[in-house]
Amino acid sequence: MKISRRDALKISAATVAATALSACTKEEIKPPKKVQSPTSFLPFPKTASPRVVVVGGGWSGLSLAKQLKIEAPQAEVILVEQRFEFVSCPMSNLWLVDKIDLEFLTHDYLQGARENNYTYFQASVYGIDKEAKILKTTNGDIEYDYLALAPGIDYDYSFWTDDKVLENRLRNEYPAAFKSGSEHMTLREKILNFKGGNFIFTVPGGNYRCLPAPYERACMVADYFKSKGIKAKVILLDENNDITIKEHGFHTAMKELYSDYLEYVPNAKIEEIDLDKKVVTTEFDEFSFEDASFYPHVRGGKLLEMLGFAKDTIYNKMEANIDPFTYEVIGEENIFVSGDARPMGFSKSGNTSNTEAKYVARLIAGKINKGPKIQWETPVTVCISLVSIKPERGIFIHSEYAYNKKAGQFEFATPVTDEIWKGEHGEKNAAGAYDWAKAMYTDMFN
Ligand SMILES: Cc1cc2nc3c(=O)[nH]c(=O)nc-3n(C[C@H](O)[C@H](O)[C@H](O)COP(=O)(O)OP(=O)(O)OC[C@H]3O[C@@H](n4cnc5c(N)ncnc54)[C@H](O)[C@@H]3O)c2cc1C
Repeated sequence: MKISRRDALKISAATVAATALSACTKEEIKPPKKVQSPTSFLPFPKTASPRVVVVGGGWSGLSLAKQLKIEAPQAEVILVEQRFEFVSCPMSNLWLVDKIDLEFLTHDYLQGARENNYTYFQASVYGIDKEAKILKTTNGDIEYDYLALAPGIDYDYSFWTDDKVLENRLRNEYPAAFKSGSEHMTLREKILNFKGGNFIFTVPGGNYRCLPAPYERACMVADYFKSKGIKAKVILLDENNDITIKEHGFHTAMKELYSDYLEYVPNAKIEEIDLDKKVVTTEFDEFSFEDASFYPHVRGGKLLEMLGFAKDTIYNKMEANIDPFTYEVIGEENIFVSGDARPMGFSKSGNTSNTEAKYVARLIAGKINKGPKIQWETPVTVCISLVSIKPERGIFIHSEYAYNKKAGQFEFATPVTDEIWKGEHGEKNAAGAYDWAKAMYTDMFN
């Protein structure tokens, strides 16, 4: 068959159209060009030096990163922290009542890294490839040889409610302020603008973060209301059957200084919180409130559960699944957890985390340096709680720990408690709180 020029043009037009169409269709069904996920970038090319990645720039992670560079200077240490600056929880009860400036609590991660020769990397960790030894962060993947996780605590509202709407209202409208950041700011606004009536605080069961802090906070707020002449009462609902630590000092201070401003209620297991009616129902009573800050049970930092390194313990849910002496994750080599996320019954305190982290750093450095076996070292708990602002007076505890083989757990050993808050003695204790805090900030950042 003869094809005319006209036909030929028609065919070629049709072919072009068909080709274009098929190209277009192919293009459409082709999977989109693979865009490299920002998280697969490797911000730190691997060097010959052993690399330790520390996650969490709290009291534990900061102390660990610094000590590692002392014990194993040849190691490359990267501290991954989601926050942009450090704000201390210890001493924050004083900031809540306007006694100290935020500057006293706030410290610079970059300075800590610069002074101590490690790298601060701002990012959130969300995953791990254990085989490839890669940590997944929101700002890129990081290869590691050793991993030290110190993510602290999260809150566990499940003892009070399964209702997520209520839980979110509690988190947002009545925050506990036992993790640093916005929660503290909200609570401070509540306290400083309180017009009068009942202000409820709670003390959870389990091994919660900083045993004396809820009692110290109750005293500080009662002192503030009293000194401002505000007709207000702090109601402290304690799930425990008594004040959990320094009980003599706190009981006497509450009774002698704040009898009209502070009501301490032990055995106050909360059964219902009605935020609309503003009523808390416990096993034995009902308490109405004008404002509140609800401190729920704590659990290990969620990161551990995300990475598969958590278990329920006799104290709390989802704490680190580690060997209590070597801090190594059970079933994993060269992955460690320290700080408040630990499962041992140590006091969840900054001083405990700082001293413990130095021991864990020695364990990791021992592996890097292929040194002799490191002997177990007890963490040290030191805590000074203020009971009044005008004048400033405080009570003190110092303790180390020993392992009770029969009970299969650690216990306080040689606790030294100085609960005298009256007169010059108490004032000296309070001054000691500032000296302690300054020394700790220096220890972590300089
Ligand atoms: C009101 C109050 C008063 C206190 N008073 C005292 C006191 O007087 N003395 C004392 O010794 N202790 C005190 N403490 C306790 C002390 O603050 C804690 O025990 C200490 O902070 C625990 O250190 P940590 O490093 O385990 O946890 P944290 O200090 O909470 O640090 C955990 C860090 O991990 C980071 N993180 C978590 N998940 C991720 C992730 N996925 N990616 C990246 N980063 C992550 C967090 O941002 C955080 O910075 C007090 C606590 C409170 C709340």
